[in-house]
Amino acid sequence: MSEHPFQAVFQTFAKVSNSVQTHLSNLIGQPHHTSPTTKAPLISVSSSSKVGPSENDSTHLQPQDIIYKGKSATPVTKEGLGRATWTFLHTLAAQYPDNPTRQQKKDVKELMAILSRMYPCKECADHFSEILRTNPVQAGSHAEFSQWLCHVHNTVNRSLNKVVFPCERVDARWGKLECEHRACDVLGSTNTFGYKTY
Ligand code: FAD
Repeated sequence: MSEHPFQAVFQTFAKVSNSVQTHLSNLIGQPHHTSPTTKAPLISVSSSSKVGPSENDSTHLQPQDIIYKGKSATPVTKEGLGRATWTFLHTLAAQYPDNPTRQQKKDVKELMAILSRMYPCKECADHFSEILRTNPVQAGSHAEFSQWLCHVHNTVNRSLNKVVFPCERVDARWGKLECEHRACDVLGSTNTFGYKTY
């Protein structure tokens, strides 16, 4: 049997309508439920999402965690990535032990070398690699490592015409993670019972 002459028009209208609603939903941050004639455009999930084993589980995806059409609501910028990475590195330095183990010294050097190869901004990675060549990692103690990091961060700041940070204030700017019972100490630190955890 042939289709009703207006059926194609109705279907096209339904698709356009769903598409407009989806775009509007993206703008206002509310999930849009499409009509049963089209598939929900669920493509990806934000990195902060928790995936639970069942729909009743409290860790199941929440609507706000779902990203439509493969577009992230807020794309990561070079600046945002830089701030997040410096936060990670300075927090690591803040928690780096006064008397690191040999393994910790090795790990921190490797971490910097890996960053200079794999940092997901080629221009930054190449620049950092050059900085590491002229400023080998100093990680003999917490003080040494946090001052070294402050110095290399300032080297990047200078190249970007940013304000140079006073390194004597680095411990005041970057504190240890607030974690009960020193649960966030890096491995190898002396724990509350007085013995090494690494
Ligand atoms: P950021 O420089 O990100 O600093 C974050 C916060 O750290 C500041 O608000 C301040 O409170 C504190 N801070 C600043 N300086 C110091 C310091 N010396 N010691 C301790 N704390 C400090 N961007 C580019 O465009 N080109 C590059 O080549 C480049 N290379 C990078 C290499 C690395 C390894 C990293 C991690 C980032 C790089 N970036 C680069 C990004 C850049 O450094 C900044 O992160 C970005 O421009 C955002 O700058 P911001 O002003 O918000 O503060």
